[in-house]
Amino acid sequence: MSIPTVAIGALGGTIASTSNAHDGSEIVPTLSAERLAAAVPGLEELAEVRAETLAQLPSPSLDEPTVMRALRWAQAAVDAGAVGVVLTQGTDTLEESAYLLDLFWDRPEPLVVTGAMRSPQAAGADGPANLLTAVRCALAPASRGRGVLVAFDDEIHQARWVAKTDSMSTSAFRSPVFGPIGRCVEAEIVYGVTAGRPAPLPPPQDEGADPRVPLLATYLGDDGHVLDALSPAGIQGVVIAGFGAGHVSAAMAEAVGRKSSELPVVFASRTGSGPTGRAMYGYPGSEIDLLARGAIGAGWLSPVKARLLLWALLATGPADAARLRAEFAARGTP
Ligand code: ASP
Repeated sequence: MSIPTVAIGALGGTIASTSNAHDGSEIVPTLSAERLAAAVPGLEELAEVRAETLAQLPSPSLDEPTVMRALRWAQAAVDAGAVGVVLTQGTDTLEESAYLLDLFWDRPEPLVVTGAMRSPQAAGADGPANLLTAVRCALAPASRGRGVLVAFDDEIHQARWVAKTDSMSTSAFRSPVFGPIGRCVEAEIVYGVTAGRPAPLPPPQDEGADPRVPLLATYLGDDGHVLDALSPAGIQGVVIAGFGAGHVSAAMAEAVGRKSSELPVVFASRTGSGPTGRAMYGYPGSEIDLLARGAIGAGWLSPVKARLLLWALLATGPADAARLRAEFAARGTP
């Protein structure tokens, strides 16, 4: 009997990291996708695996062009017959890559991202278990039509909402407010919500498009001088991680107004949970004030995801305020 094909692409990270030191310290990404697949007990009975090493990077050194190359590789794997695709990478930026992939993933087949918090040589390494869950998720018919998923510690999360919320724990991923959408239980993938997602964006016309969109976090006493120092010649947009529901100081609000007249400025909440406001506060630097000054609210998107949405919109079309506002309204709400 033939078994389905799953493609596994490896980008590096702790899941692929080994050490030459006798105490297992100073790990760096070294393992190939084949080696990762070979470490999962019983994988060959579940699926025919096509494994490919796409990069061997610590995830802080991944970037948008590398993720877009992984996207095209995953699309080609589905075109070649894979029923689903798994990408392994470092956990530090996993929430960002998964969301960028999701903005453009235009297939019903699942694309599942996973990683590990403990390296393969560590006692209780979690990589093989996470990879097995990710493959099961990629194989499950119930995963179809859900876009990009993150499988970690037996939970399944939507790319839009998942965040790394712990620097060391093996249950490092959560989806604030909305929670995981599924679980892997006794080898079965079970979903608690029906499939559905915003339509994917068209691919960038220019495969090399890489707009520069910095993210600034505001802070007590921020007078806006860092935002003012950003030259509009060197960037295409900017995202601000604001206090609470997206607020900034009165002085920073002035800087937001100046920058908004030059390029798109998006404000998000730095709290890690909950949306930006729309109509509650009226003081200088409040959401009402920032919207009036031309800035765009990120809604429920975290600052890093708002930055990627702005990157993707600028890579695929004009920096037209009405377009950007409409896309943030549609993609920033559940
Ligand atoms: N600590 C990271 C990881 O879990 C390292 C990285 O993101 O590459 O993989």
